[in-house]
Amino acid sequence: MCGIIGYAGHRPAVPVIIEGLRRLEYRGYDSAGVGFIQGMELKVIKAEGKLAALEEKLAHYPNTVAMNGIGHTRWATHGVPAERNAHPHIGGNNELAIIHNGIIENYMEIKEHLIKQGVTFVSDTDSEVVAQLLEFHYNECHNMLEAVGRCLRRIEGSYAFG
Ligand code: GLU
Repeated sequence: MCGIIGYAGHRPAVPVIIEGLRRLEYRGYDSAGVGFIQGMELKVIKAEGKLAALEEKLAHYPNTVAMNGIGHTRWATHGVPAERNAHPHIGGNNELAIIHNGIIENYMEIKEHLIKQGVTFVSDTDSEVVAQLLEFHYNECHNMLEAVGRCLRRIEGSYAFG
């Protein structure tokens, strides 16, 4: 079973998120990742295997001052355990990232539709469909709340998102 955590507050977010993921480790997972904004740029760092592997990568970002972010430990349901399939998943323009617990049952139908619209997928997961669909709708309406609503009306399954 996977773990999902988000933080927005006054403290540097990444250590808070890592600590949260550590507390969720007992649930089991095959890969882990975090997403945060650094210097106006979305950063997504992921690693296959244990949290220690993710922390090793994060050591290259010692001055992370982001005050909000998301983190995930994955239990693969769609796509093998691999870094490219780890969460967060990003939309094509690298402007938004999502983490997802659960299963998107109609992901294939949405994926095929988005591919026809020119969207390129980089993972084998059902979850990436949500990132790409959200960005697709955001580009249509330029309103995140509305884009989330449009997205939720199209997806079927069980889910928690950050
Ligand atoms: N279905 C998603 C995947 O395979 C999420 C799995 C999970 O809940 O960790 O990436």
